[in-house]
Amino acid sequence: MKVLVDFDLCESNAMCEALAPEVFELDDDDYLVVKKEHVGPEDLDSVRRAVASCPKAAISLQEAPTDG
Ligand code: SF4
Repeated sequence: MKVLVDFDLCESNAMCEALAPEVFELDDDDYLVVKKEHVGPEDLDSVRRAVASCPKAAISLQEAPTDG
């Protein structure tokens, strides 16, 4: 799964960072950084919670294209 962020919508409230800190991080300028664009099974639950909790609906998960 791939994380997509609409940076025009993101208001940098750090909700996603609180729920999935292994994937989302706000930098020193409060700019959202996606630390892992490709989400493995170990991070999927927390990223799904972050997607569902983003008040701006700025993040989404996209099925990765099939390998090979
Ligand atoms: S929860 Fe949504 S609005 Fe908040 S920092 Fe994350 S992507 Fe941006």
